[in-house]
Amino acid sequence: MKNKLGILGGGQLGMFICQAAKKHNIKTTIFSNSQKFSARGFCDNFLIGSFSDTILVEKFINSSDFFTIETENIPLQVLKLIEQKKKIFPSSNIVEIAQNRLKEKKFLNSISGIKTAKYKEINSFNDLENFYKLFGKTGILKSCEMGYDGKGQHHVSSKNIQKFKNYKFHGYILEEVLDFKKEISVLVCCSNKNTIFYPPVENIHKNSILRQTIHPARISDEIKNKALMLATKIASKLKLQGILAIEMFLMKNDELLINELAPRPHNSGHWSLDFCKYNQFESLIFSIFKKKLMNPEPINKCKMINVIGKDYEKKKIFSRKYKFYDYYKDEIKELRKMGHYTVKS
Ligand code: ADP
Ligand code: MG
Repeated sequence: MKNKLGILGGGQLGMFICQAAKKHNIKTTIFSNSQKFSARGFCDNFLIGSFSDTILVEKFINSSDFFTIETENIPLQVLKLIEQKKKIFPSSNIVEIAQNRLKEKKFLNSISGIKTAKYKEINSFNDLENFYKLFGKTGILKSCEMGYDGKGQHHVSSKNIQKFKNYKFHGYILEEVLDFKKEISVLVCCSNKNTIFYPPVENIHKNSILRQTIHPARISDEIKNKALMLATKIASKLKLQGILAIEMFLMKNDELLINELAPRPHNSGHWSLDFCKYNQFESLIFSIFKKKLMNPEPINKCKMINVIGKDYEKKKIFSRKYKFYDYYKDEIKELRKMGHYTVKS
């Protein structure tokens, strides 16, 4: 029986994947770049080292039947190497798109009926000066790769543009600043048998980092259906096998623009751990091990609140009052996600 899962990355998402795997008798092996990682106490085996260590990667490939990722920031050649012998959920083609904002934007805008914010590729200060004028002398400069939780992003305006004069512009885009009504996200999971969705949720960010998710999103049925329709289009174009989170901006005219794709479980789906019959991590396990996907069956309206940076010092209070999840990070860092809790509403 195939029951061994290799997971690239050992952060909190990896930790929750291990917990779901254990529930369904799946044995997990984590590949981690660091000694201390959230999933360490929850996986069956682990390998610690660099993705450039080909012997270690080979050992990892031999450890498991199937593979998945907990972050899209994995070198593409490692995923391709795994795919020569085994299957990854989702496939390397999908990760390749989602790990690069320029490829992602081009892909999304190539689908009829799908739109993103206006953007321009930036390769020099000259590009930045020219293009930010097109967006009303303001814009968000984003590194195409390796960004998360707002890292690698800068608001550019006439006040600070000179600061970027000597910047190395290899691999950047500039996006127009959107004046959206709200941010929502949808999780879609596909197996070779069926497809399921977690209902759209509403996401509240502060300084580009997710603070709170509200289930369900406070939107009309019409917008909800549109969000699900867009998610279906994207998943089918990608030939998705596995789970995918789609972040969207709801504009003032009720148009939905796609922000970004995350082909893995997502922070905005953590409410499903407590408020769904089947959570996002279990759905991923079902999709990998070729089981029929179960409808998530949300139980209640709820909120998920992230515990960020120094707020973690209040974890005893959170644990007493709420269902608190500790991410067992090695140290507190400013703007680092340290845990979360959920509340019925
Ligand atoms: P990350 O990979 O860091 O999550 P995002 O592109 O999702 O990167 O940006 C993080 C947050 O920054 C978004 O959720 C949103 O709140 C804000 N943001 C990103 N792009 C735009 C934009 N074009 N206009 C307005 N706000 C934006
Ligand atoms: Mg995002």
